Amino acid sequence: MNLEARIPSGPLEQKWSRHRFELKLVNPANKRKYSVIMVGSGLAGAGGAASLAELGYQVKCFCYQDSPRRAHSIAAQGGINAAKNYPNDGDSVFRLFYDTVKGGDFRAREANVYRLAEVSVNIIDQCVALGVPFAREYGGLLDNRSFGGAQVSRTFYARGQTGQQLLLGAYQALERQIGRGQVRMFPRHEMQELIVVDGRARGVVVRDLVTGELEAHLADAVCLATGGYGNVFYLSTNAKGCNTTAIWRAYRRGAGFANPCFTQIHPTCIPVTGEHQSKLTLMSESLRNDGRIWVPKQKGDTRPPVRIPEDERDYYLERKYPSYGNLAPRDIASRAAKQVCDDGRGVGPGGQGVYLDFSEAIGRLGEDAIREKYGNLFEMYERITAEDPYRVPMRIYPASHYTMGGLWVDYNLMSTIPGLFVLGEANFSDHGANRLGASALMQGLADGYFIIPYTMGDYLARTPRTPVAGDHPAVTAAVAAVRDRTARLLAVPGKRTPTSFYRELGRLLWEQCGMARNRAGLERALGEVPALREEFWRNVTVTGEAGELNQSLELAGRVADFLELGELMCRDALARDESCGCHFREEYQTEDGEAKRNDERFCHVAVWEHQGEGRAPVRHQEPLDYETVHLATRSYK
Ligand SMILES: Cc1cc2nc3c(=O)[nH]c(=O)nc-3n(C[C@H](O)[C@H](O)[C@H](O)COP(=O)(O)OP(=O)(O)OC[C@H]3O[C@@H](n4cnc5c(N)ncnc54)[C@H](O)[C@@H]3O)c2cc1C
Repeated sequence: MNLEARIPSGPLEQKWSRHRFELKLVNPANKRKYSVIMVGSGLAGAGGAASLAELGYQVKCFCYQDSPRRAHSIAAQGGINAAKNYPNDGDSVFRLFYDTVKGGDFRAREANVYRLAEVSVNIIDQCVALGVPFAREYGGLLDNRSFGGAQVSRTFYARGQTGQQLLLGAYQALERQIGRGQVRMFPRHEMQELIVVDGRARGVVVRDLVTGELEAHLADAVCLATGGYGNVFYLSTNAKGCNTTAIWRAYRRGAGFANPCFTQIHPTCIPVTGEHQSKLTLMSESLRNDGRIWVPKQKGDTRPPVRIPEDERDYYLERKYPSYGNLAPRDIASRAAKQVCDDGRGVGPGGQGVYLDFSEAIGRLGEDAIREKYGNLFEMYERITAEDPYRVPMRIYPASHYTMGGLWVDYNLMSTIPGLFVLGEANFSDHGANRLGASALMQGLADGYFIIPYTMGDYLARTPRTPVAGDHPAVTAAVAAVRDRTARLLAVPGKRTPTSFYRELGRLLWEQCGMARNRAGLERALGEVPALREEFWRNVTVTGEAGELNQSLELAGRVADFLELGELMCRDALARDESCGCHFREEYQTEDGEAKRNDERFCHVAVWEHQGEGRAPVRHQEPLDYETVHLATRSYK
């Protein structure tokens, strides 16, 4: 497997501009001759499709929702980072770069992260030009707030609905191109297979989710911007539809899968209430700007929070991490919450919760100011829990939220399959072992608006244009593979619903490959996940037919892929004999319970290569070189 990262030479701060100069161009008249497939219409996909179409390429864009506007990006609440330094509090491109490398616990590529920080400033200008209504402060400048892992305020926001406003902007840009005929939009279409011809990605097989028909679409290049796989845990903050199918199909066709075990658990979610639940809700990290996290000092203290005096409360993040306090990064804040709950000091039913308390901020700023900043989040919390967070502290607990792992890509965002590009959360690129808050939107839009428009041209200009016939054997084989798999799913004479398998897989992974992992648990999971998968193919029941709208079939296909991915995550977690960022192997921790890296053996990206049905995948490594930021123990104390 070729893992040449194609990092440009030269000083860090000149790499991207030099690279852009060295990339080949396609002249404007020739761009019209090329076609590109974009799977996904979230921030990365909509931004990428609109930008490529604006350049003149013919774009086909696919999503499984009824409208591109419903992509999961719409759920993003808190904000988007950029090194504008409007508050004049010491920010810079270099500081954003440094914070992100450190935040990822030194498991991301320096060059990628620097480029991300560099283009962050352009993203804000682009979004403002598209009409995104970012919050403004009194003087008229765009307002900023703080997110975890940073000591500056660099997060741009639109109340608690930043993703929605950004997506409306990207969607408008996309709609403009649809109107011009440069983009053909295919909503309610799910990609189920990648078409590879002569070693290059040349198309996709999609299922029309309304009619059930299978279609093959061909192009000169394919982009996947299909989001993350956090729903592998069944319960997560992700939209219910988020899944792994697109990138998993590409992995099975030869694309390397990087760091699958790097999954982010977010510290501030509404706690699980029972078996019936199918979804968890995030309370944005932005709330930690004003909310203070605490638990009672005494084990088993069941008094209502207002009756617990100040000196009997443990503001454990402020105590343990005085420099960052409640804005400690997510991996650290999540583990700290787990520790106090494991210690018997958790609050709420089952003791699986900690308080996020606004009483001090309400006293200092007034209720109106808090309502102005976080009103929609407070309302959401009250609707779900029937508790008024203006009066009693919120109860929160960590939950699966984001995946740093994904398809491996080089500096040009190209996977190990030539012609297959991967954007946004679907790739592994910039966050290392832990993503800092408000940096996913930044990365998705950087990929879509500012990187793929350059790197796609270079690939096309260097690749001879060869048409692929609709009846090419690779095309018919890919369609047949989807048809056979669908028929297989429908033919299982089983008794268990896809959801029951899914729930069991999620619980298993949460327990053995979630916030904390250890060798014994991972080895057990590596026995149990394949056994569950084997039972799935023997005992699942999928109702309805192939040629109709069939949500049971849709879910079954996604669960089948999660059952394979879950095993790869455990393999990856077991092979990485260290703790770093969100990957916390209990065997490797410092005396005070912090992650203990092993840079000598694991300062690399782990990339898995599929070897075919029933054969163990092979683990490759892309070494990571730190030339600018020196490897150091990550501390927020
Ligand atoms: C509740 C919540 C709040 C968040 N808040 C923030 C925040 O404040 N700041 C921040 O930076 N990040 C935040 N994040 C993370 C961020 O929202 C995501 O990482 C980001 O939006 C992902 O964008 P994307 O374009 O990569 O993918 P998505 O928005 O997930 O879009 C995926 C697209 O791919 C399509 N798709 C997927 N599979 C297929 C298939 N097989 N066939 C066809 N189409 C397919 C979907 O239809 C969709 O259009 C939050 C995440 C959650 C869960």
